Amino acid sequence: MFKSHKRLQVGLATGYDMTGLCADVYMVWWMDKFVHKLNQLNIKLDVNVRFKDDLNLMTKALPLGTRYDPNNKELHYTNPSLKCFANFSSQSEKEIYESENPEVITFYVLSQIANDIDTMISFTYDVPSNYEPKMVPILDLNVYLNQDGYIMHEFYEKPTNNHFVILASSALSFKVKRTVFTQECLRRLRNTSLRLGPDIANKYLSQYMLKLKDSGYSQKFRAEVIKRSKNAFNLQIENDSNGIRPLFRDKIRIVQDQKEKGVGAVDWWNKAYYKDPKNKRYSTILFVPPTPGGKLAKQMQKREAELNANSDTRIKVVETGGSRLKHILVQNNPYPSLPCLKQLCPFCKETLVSVPAVNSAELGSAKLSCRTPSVGYTVSCMECKKNGTPALYIGETGRTAVTRGGEHIRAILKKNPQNPMSKHLTKAHPNQNHVRFEFGLTQHFRDPLSRQADEALRIASSSKKLVVLNSKSEFNKAPIARVQIEN
Ligand SMILES: [Zn+2]
Ligand SMILES: [Zn+2]
Repeated sequence: MFKSHKRLQVGLATGYDMTGLCADVYMVWWMDKFVHKLNQLNIKLDVNVRFKDDLNLMTKALPLGTRYDPNNKELHYTNPSLKCFANFSSQSEKEIYESENPEVITFYVLSQIANDIDTMISFTYDVPSNYEPKMVPILDLNVYLNQDGYIMHEFYEKPTNNHFVILASSALSFKVKRTVFTQECLRRLRNTSLRLGPDIANKYLSQYMLKLKDSGYSQKFRAEVIKRSKNAFNLQIENDSNGIRPLFRDKIRIVQDQKEKGVGAVDWWNKAYYKDPKNKRYSTILFVPPTPGGKLAKQMQKREAELNANSDTRIKVVETGGSRLKHILVQNNPYPSLPCLKQLCPFCKETLVSVPAVNSAELGSAKLSCRTPSVGYTVSCMECKKNGTPALYIGETGRTAVTRGGEHIRAILKKNPQNPMSKHLTKAHPNQNHVRFEFGLTQHFRDPLSRQADEALRIASSSKKLVVLNSKSEFNKAPIARVQIEN
């Protein structure tokens, strides 16, 4: 659905798991046909690795005058020195053969064979001679064949990559920054063939260190990052030669290692425990909002340790990150929202029994669309407010405000005895018609727990001052423990 139009999507969206699976199923079938065809034409692949629809192939160069004939599905050879093969299908094809570049001609022929297999997929190709220096970028590697016949790889990043790393002035902890940069250096070391010697790897490390310098990091910090990454890399090489763990793992080994480390386990927060069973094993995790110096988290950790000292059920208390300035200062949707079209939306328009609340601190003046899901809201009786004895209903919903609000309105109109507002009307204003309620939105919530906790808090803190219309059963929810930080 796009606005009110229905549109049919052709093909699958990038990034969905399903898209990857479909591509794999199709490509397995396709590869089989492709390899079979190459065998028929006597072309042998030395390297044949597929990643989704990317093929990394290596083969011996075909003779310069090789051309593919799609009609008879066979290869033709012409001696290029005779210059007698004309009838090129296009100017670019003419240029390919005139270049007399064996790489380009070979892969041009391969791409023609590939494109002849199925009309659903069309291939382009890339060869080292398209680049300067002559290497093919594959993900974060630059790959080429050296003169001794070895496949070499060097670290590669797009020239358009950001020159800056996490700035020294950013609010992340020193430890996090150091870990991130050490891992990045390690990636550069691992991505450069050992056979190339340390000079090439050092070149990539120097380039990275320049980024760190320009992002505000001291020489001392940079030296430490280099030292840590080199140590880690040497350990990896040592583990490789001792047979403890290969430097480059295959798929089977990666899955096996992940299982041991507890990656993908439901209790991902027990990572330290899986690494070393001497560490504590936690039953669950509790996130707390950030406070200066992590004070709240530390106090809660201390209290948790006291309370659960003799218990098998331990709770890991983790401080969440703070909100980013970007989220406070930037408006993601600069366009005014479309007008609400619902007939019965107490938050946007007047109905027989309600009016939308106008900027009142009590009722909530949050500038939220009535179509935002997961919100807290308040309903106030206007008659009681006039009499100086405000009566409030405090609510929360996981659906949109307009849906829940519409339900309330219909219930009030039908005089449904289950509805708190309708109940209030029969009890407090039995002889009055045209009593109306004010509907206000208070806040949007990211998760159900904080939404319900907020509702309980609002009920608990309002009940002393005013009449609360919520039924008593709602008071019986688990009480909210109050935590106070002492300075
Ligand atoms: Zn509305
Ligand atoms: Zn009332």
